[in-house]
Amino acid sequence: MEINKIQHSKLDKVDPNNSAFGVNISDHMLICVFKDGKWGEPVIMPYGGMNYSPALMAIHYGQAIFEGMKAYKDSNDNVFLFRPEKNFERFNKSAERLAMPKITKEIFLDGLLSLIDLDRNWVPTKEGNSLYIRPTMFASEEMFSARISNEYTFAIMTSPANSYYDKPLKIKIEDYYTRAVDGGVGFTKCAGNYGASFYPTKLANEAGYDQVIWTDSKEHLYFEESGTMNVMVRIGDVLYTPPTSNTILSGITRDSLVTIAKHNKIEVKEERISVDDIFNAYKSGNLKEIFGCGTAVVINRYSHVAYRDFIMELPELDEKNSFAIFLKKQLVDLQTNKSEDPFGWRY
Ligand code: PMP
Repeated sequence: MEINKIQHSKLDKVDPNNSAFGVNISDHMLICVFKDGKWGEPVIMPYGGMNYSPALMAIHYGQAIFEGMKAYKDSNDNVFLFRPEKNFERFNKSAERLAMPKITKEIFLDGLLSLIDLDRNWVPTKEGNSLYIRPTMFASEEMFSARISNEYTFAIMTSPANSYYDKPLKIKIEDYYTRAVDGGVGFTKCAGNYGASFYPTKLANEAGYDQVIWTDSKEHLYFEESGTMNVMVRIGDVLYTPPTSNTILSGITRDSLVTIAKHNKIEVKEERISVDDIFNAYKSGNLKEIFGCGTAVVINRYSHVAYRDFIMELPELDEKNSFAIFLKKQLVDLQTNKSEDPFGWRY
C-alpha cells in the first residue's frame, strides 16, 4: 500500500488524552477511489482537504454512508480494535441499500490496520479515552442527474476521543417525528438518517430534553432507538431491548451487551417494548433503568423519561445495583484488555 507520510506531526499541538470527541483529526487518512467499475489502490496520505466542486453527487442525492468504531490502548501500549469485522459487514450492508459498491475486506480492514499502526501515537493512553475511527464512502462523481453515481471515494479518518460522559440524561419519547420506516434505510448508517434526526432532536432540546426515544412510524407506540444509540429497558430484573429490524440499526454495542448480560446470568428479552409497558412498569415500581448504548459513549443512562406531559423519574442506582453501570464496566474492561476475552472480540 502506498504510504505518504506527513512532514510534521500535529501531535506537538494536540494532546490525544485531552481532546473533545471528533474535533482533532489524526495525521493521516486512507483514501481509495472507485472508478470505471472497480476500486483503485488505497493510499495513506496526510489528512486534509480534497478537491471537489459543489456538484458532488453525494451532496445532492445523498449516497453517503459511514461507520463508527474505536481503537483502545492498554497499559503496555498494545492497540486493540473491537469486533472490526462487524463494522465491515455493516458498512457493506449500508452500501448495498444505497446502491453503492461494496468495499473489499483488504481495503477496509488491512487499510484500517496500516492507518492505525502509522498513527498509533494518536491512540490515547488515559483511562476511558480511545481513538475514534470513521470509515466513510460517498458518491464523488460531479454532475446533476438523479441517478446512481459512477464514482465513489472511500476514506478512513481517526480522531482521539475523551472519556465517556456519564451524567444521566433527560429523554423524551417521540410521538410525532419518525427516524425510520419499514422498507426504508433505518438499518443503514447513511448520512440522511442523521440529517433528518437533527430537527426533532433540536425541538426536544428546546423543550428541555437531551435526546429522544424514537418510536415506530405507524403508531408511535413501540420503542425503536434512542438518539443515535440502541435502547435498553430494565423492568424488574429483566433487560429488554427491541429486536433489530429494517428500522433499527444493528448496534455492535447492543449485541455485545446482550451477550455479556446473558453470560452473567442476567435475563435478556429481545422483544418489542411499548409505551404502555413502560407506564405499567412505572406504576408498579418495576421500571428500574432505561439507557442508550453505542460505540461513541458506550452507555447513556436516563434519569427522566417524558411521554407527552407525563414525566417518569427513574431511581438513582449505583455500581452495586445498576445493570447499566455493571455492563459498561464489563464491556470497557474487555475492550481495553483489563479482563479476559471469553468471546474472542479483541482484535
Ligand atoms: N443506532 C444508531 C442510529 C447509530 O448511529 C448507532 C451508532 N453507530 C447505534 C445505534 C449504535 O451502534 P454501535 O453500537 O455499533 O455503535
